[in-house]
Amino acid sequence: MARIVQKFGGTSVGDIDRIKNVALRVKAEVDQGNEVAVVVSAMSGVTNQLVEYCSQVAPMHDAREYDMIVSTGEQVTSGLLSLALQELGVQARSWAGWQIPMITDNAHGKARILEIKGEELVRRMKQGQVAIVAGFQGIGPDNRVTTLGRGGSDTTAVALAAAINADRCDIYTDVEGIYTTDPRIVAVAKKLNKITYEEMLEMASLGAKVLQTRSVEMAMKHRVRVQVLSSFSDAPGTLVCDEDEIVEKELVSGIAYSRDEAKVTILGVEDQPGIAAGIFGPLADANINVDMIVQNASEDGTTDITFTTSRAELERALKVIKDNMQIPYRSINSDKSVVKISVVGVGMRSHAGVAQTMFTALADKKINIHIISTSEIKVSVLISEDYTELALRALHTAYGLDAA
Ligand code: ASP
Ligand code: MG
Repeated sequence: MARIVQKFGGTSVGDIDRIKNVALRVKAEVDQGNEVAVVVSAMSGVTNQLVEYCSQVAPMHDAREYDMIVSTGEQVTSGLLSLALQELGVQARSWAGWQIPMITDNAHGKARILEIKGEELVRRMKQGQVAIVAGFQGIGPDNRVTTLGRGGSDTTAVALAAAINADRCDIYTDVEGIYTTDPRIVAVAKKLNKITYEEMLEMASLGAKVLQTRSVEMAMKHRVRVQVLSSFSDAPGTLVCDEDEIVEKELVSGIAYSRDEAKVTILGVEDQPGIAAGIFGPLADANINVDMIVQNASEDGTTDITFTTSRAELERALKVIKDNMQIPYRSINSDKSVVKISVVGVGMRSHAGVAQTMFTALADKKINIHIISTSEIKVSVLISEDYTELALRALHTAYGLDAA
């Protein structure tokens, strides 16, 4: 007998038939003698609709009321799934975040889970009652409903699995697992059997949008084994786990890309101590995330500094720089049509030449690299967005990842 958390995403519970289908999957686990908790998302499209309603009433809405509104989608699904299970003769009850309680901080709209007091829920699970938990929501110190940020149900599931000491956390979605790269772009992409937490974190934060990044951080911290699989097929999924569990480590496990990138270059900055602090300090104060940074060597006493940020933040970043720049510079330019492509793999810690393979593959396709950055398990390049597909395919082949 095992204790299992199952999580079903929006498309998996997209309509009543699908909810009934999910109920069958839950029942299958119950029939095996397992204790089961299920975390659900809102039916697909519902959260977007609720967010839209908020904006229509008040563009600059009160975040506490926003949470009150957008958290309702999950509540509907949890009740419906509970009913569907009862119809199948399975004992089940729904749990809103505050009923558990799932305690969060006060950051409405992007709250963090602080504590889950799961005793009562576990007591009932032990008696054979399936717990259907509304994902994405909690209760803050002000005693009001909070939400965890878009995609937050993944985090609910992993946090719950950690809190109740579950043996497994199965995340059901509309893809069959984690692929070596986006299969919509590279048809020969392969499904991975296993991926390490660290690699998944890089893949998730780089734009492989299967799991919310925070849920992966949480899984890594608490060593929760997470399986990503499809609710529409019976194919085995991808296990996100500790490196020790992976016997054959690939040099490169996957290739991620992110189109949410913009490049800013400040030209002819007078080269003196404090330039970086003078530029990036005000950006940090304005809560603008900066990713890649390059500063060129100066020959004539001036230098160029280039960095990337997200596209949504570009205009604000430009304004912050123009308003705060104390050091003389010649001009600023920016480019929104860039993409960041990253090859990720724990194997590269112990192998040389991974970056070189990337540069050669891109050079062969005459793709120009704007910026390069590396970390222990990742090499990233910024290139023109027009070459996204070409680059992904070339790299996928170069690293021997193409399915036979
Ligand atoms: N329904 C929420 C969203 O769409 C949370 C989730 O599905 O994970 O962001
Ligand atoms: Mg999701």
